[in-house]
Amino acid sequence: MSNNKLKFGVSACLLGFKYRYDGTADKWQELIDKLKDVADFVPVCPEVESGLPVPRPKMHIRPSSKGTRLVVADTGEDLTDMMMQWAEVKLEQLELRQLDGFIFHSKSPCCGFCTTKLRTPQGRILSDKASGLFAAAFHRKFPQIPIGDERDLDAFLKKIKIMTEEEE
Ligand code: SF4
Repeated sequence: MSNNKLKFGVSACLLGFKYRYDGTADKWQELIDKLKDVADFVPVCPEVESGLPVPRPKMHIRPSSKGTRLVVADTGEDLTDMMMQWAEVKLEQLELRQLDGFIFHSKSPCCGFCTTKLRTPQGRILSDKASGLFAAAFHRKFPQIPIGDERDLDAFLKKIKIMTEEEE
């Protein structure tokens, strides 16, 4: 039966993996209950898979002349290049998985899609509709793949329905 299922990438912490910066998960039972019969999940955690430890310091995204940067909030250490090198390889691997959609954790500096706070080095919020580094890279590479987040699964499912109807 699983052959007929869709395949969704999902931020791993939403599936219960304890990968967040503070060592917790943010298991989203509604997501699992709503989608498990129609889709197989491909868990992805940019921060842990790129080699960052658990727990780890909090990170932010900041604007710069070189584009959005991923930095450690307290020290300003710039992790952008490390994250993007990992993302390039990961996105090629995901291409082979032929995902039908991706549900990202909202507001995260790596996973948020149009929901993440962009801050100045002093912490001032410039926007709360920016995208985390990995979610933005995913969308650049796969602009046709529907993206959603845990806060609005119905909107995500609507995009999936439109996509599957168009393919029929
Ligand atoms: S990087 Fe993404 S998957 Fe990993 S803990 Fe943060 S929000 Fe969850």
